[in-house]
Amino acid sequence: MGGMTEPWTEVADGVFVRRYRFFAQNIVAVVDRGEALVVDTRSTYAQAREICSDLRAIGAPRVAAVVNTHGHYDHAFGNRVFRPVPIWGHERAVAMLSPAGGQHELAVSDLPGLTAELAEVELDPPDRVFAVSATVEFAGRRVHLSHLGRGHTDNDIVVAVEGSPVLVVGDLFENGATPYFGDGFPLDWPATADAILRLADGATVVVPGHGDIDGRALLTRQAGEFAANAALARRIHAGDLDLEAAIAASPYPAEAAREPLERALAQLRGNLD
Ligand SMILES: [Zn+2]
Repeated sequence: MGGMTEPWTEVADGVFVRRYRFFAQNIVAVVDRGEALVVDTRSTYAQAREICSDLRAIGAPRVAAVVNTHGHYDHAFGNRVFRPVPIWGHERAVAMLSPAGGQHELAVSDLPGLTAELAEVELDPPDRVFAVSATVEFAGRRVHLSHLGRGHTDNDIVVAVEGSPVLVVGDLFENGATPYFGDGFPLDWPATADAILRLADGATVVVPGHGDIDGRALLTRQAGEFAANAALARRIHAGDLDLEAAIAASPYPAEAAREPLERALAQLRGNLD
């Protein structure tokens, strides 16, 4: 996968996004005075080293801090490559990145071509953790981290770069694909999405974890879809609708609609908490 990237895009002054073709993943670097804060670390050490190497192209060879938007392996398995730099994340990301969190098994199952690379990955969860919000300062910049509720996981955070219109939303929003509900909380997700929407205006640059950079329109559209999915699940739960009819009415494509509804039903039945 070496070199399978597009160049960095400077989306605001000193805020760069690089799209890696692997998982169409966006990595963000906030740069000042030769230092960088890096958001998310990809799936393997080789992929993380590729980030380090690519940082030279934007004049920021030194990494001052790392942020994990959440504890999924593709956002955090490169963490160790950046040590001893502090790694920030939500306090519940630590459990997701513990052996019991199952991320290693999931990665091995998802990525059969990367068995050797995954074998060398040691779980290295964030060491600078918080429950609701935190501010990271480095060089002359301040970056605000906020957990606005459960959604894609129980530990998603959004990253706002002070003095810029950039909002990094992790996998709470995905562009060009149905968001992943496998670890999600579909009943909480609409309120979390609405809280993020309130942080955005017409000038906001929204960087999703995967897919194209977008604006407030992406947040508005997907917030509506989360609400529609939850409402359909409530109707099934109330006996007003069967699952197949709900799939047909889902905002998601038929092949992707079952998991969001089933996950919402599991939550309604009290099986997720
Ligand atoms: Zn994820």
